[in-house]
Amino acid sequence: MGANRRKGLCEVDVQALDAARLESLIGAERMARYERAADAAQAALAGHSVLNVSSTSSGGGVAEMLQTLLAYVRGAGIDARWLVIRGDEHFFEITKRIHNGIYGTPGDDGALGEQERAHYERVLRRNGEELLAILRQGDVVLIHDPQPAGLTEAVRSAGARVVWRCHIGREEPNHWTERAWEFLRPYIQDADDFVFSRASFAPAWVDPARTHVIPPSIDPFSAKNEPMSRRNVLLALGYVGLLDGDGDPPAVPFTRRDGSPGRINRHVDILQSGPAPPADAPLVVQVSRWDTLKDMAGVMEGFAHHVDAGLGAHLTLMGPAVKGIVDDPEAAMVYDECVERWRALPHAIRGRVHLACAPVADPDELAAITNALQRHAAVVTQKSLAEGFGLTVTEAMWKSRPIVASAVGGIVDQIEDGKQGLLIEDPSDLASFGAAIERLLRDAPLARKLGAAARARAAAEFLGDRHLDQYAQLFVGP
Ligand code: UDP
Repeated sequence: MGANRRKGLCEVDVQALDAARLESLIGAERMARYERAADAAQAALAGHSVLNVSSTSSGGGVAEMLQTLLAYVRGAGIDARWLVIRGDEHFFEITKRIHNGIYGTPGDDGALGEQERAHYERVLRRNGEELLAILRQGDVVLIHDPQPAGLTEAVRSAGARVVWRCHIGREEPNHWTERAWEFLRPYIQDADDFVFSRASFAPAWVDPARTHVIPPSIDPFSAKNEPMSRRNVLLALGYVGLLDGDGDPPAVPFTRRDGSPGRINRHVDILQSGPAPPADAPLVVQVSRWDTLKDMAGVMEGFAHHVDAGLGAHLTLMGPAVKGIVDDPEAAMVYDECVERWRALPHAIRGRVHLACAPVADPDELAAITNALQRHAAVVTQKSLAEGFGLTVTEAMWKSRPIVASAVGGIVDQIEDGKQGLLIEDPSDLASFGAAIERLLRDAPLARKLGAAARARAAAEFLGDRHLDQYAQLFVGP
């Protein structure tokens, strides 16, 4: 991974990938458009670098996307680089508060006052000094999300073009969104460009002429999304412990981001009151960070109380192992709360609900385990209370899975209710959520139809060529 937190701002290795491999999926015409866009971007950048600055190199949608997207940019002959900022615990407490605020929630209820501002600035000043040593005049710097947003001014003063790329948001402003935006506004208002996943996420004071709407994408060839035989899915899940098995099959292969072969050989840490789900039981799956807004506990209760036990379905909630998630101080608390509510479930139901913490030491291996679990799911859920985009939804769409998700944020840009999946208008309506899962478990033709439509939409709209084409337009300018 090349990431070293002790040395401060750290650079993540970015490989070069030839986008030609997408052609078999996107066809000659889209490929030709992509190549024209790459030529134009390369000419516009005239040898300058595109530096991406984010808060983590693994875990969450931003890291997931940068991992492969930047490799295609490099493969197009553009010097794309990725730097991860370093912060202490208090810094990430503050930035998580901002993150929750932009989603319209109080988070940990803490303050965002002068003391927090001073600390935020102090941490970013240190990172900024290192960044300036790397930057050259004319480079383009994409600053991702609120954590590194305070670097904008330093980068601009070094003569680079700053794009603030915001992956999160909420349609209707409220007290918490206003407070978070007021905290960020002095840092980002002079950015040269803004990129949001949805137009409605941009606060009113952002100049529309400098605002671009670019939804995320997935890479169909990454360890997260590459094809996996049914046999290997079962072997992998049995081996890691997510399905009942002898736990001793040969380790399953996957493709690392540098193109080399990897093998799944770590285990998933699972909390369950009996055996793992049998391979032939329908499995409902949600894969999410342990974050209040993903509402893993709500998924559990909706499943436990509103899905007919007679269907014999199991539920697996999987998130990353909570220890060592540097930029998310709330993960352990959210997981613990989930465990507490799991313990309170009636015994008979508890045996069919499994809480899984996946190993994060090797992000490619984590991706491969997640791939297998998503592919095995009879139903994939994403019952978020708020969502920037929801790559887990795109990933499930690509795998032709029937999906039940909340009609929030970027999820509604991916799924139309009844067409590519089922949407729940009110994410707190557990009865409707359970009924939608039940419907898909009972109606196999409907589940297949929604899954096929989901795959077609993901292929048409959410692959890297569309995404890179939009970035190329941004680099080239009007
Ligand atoms: N993810 C994963 N394993 C986990 C939990 C999450 O691989 O146990 C990945 C997931 O597949 C997706 C990303 O983390 O690629 C989450 O992105 P999303 O946009 O859904 O949400 P975010 O975490 O950015 O809010």
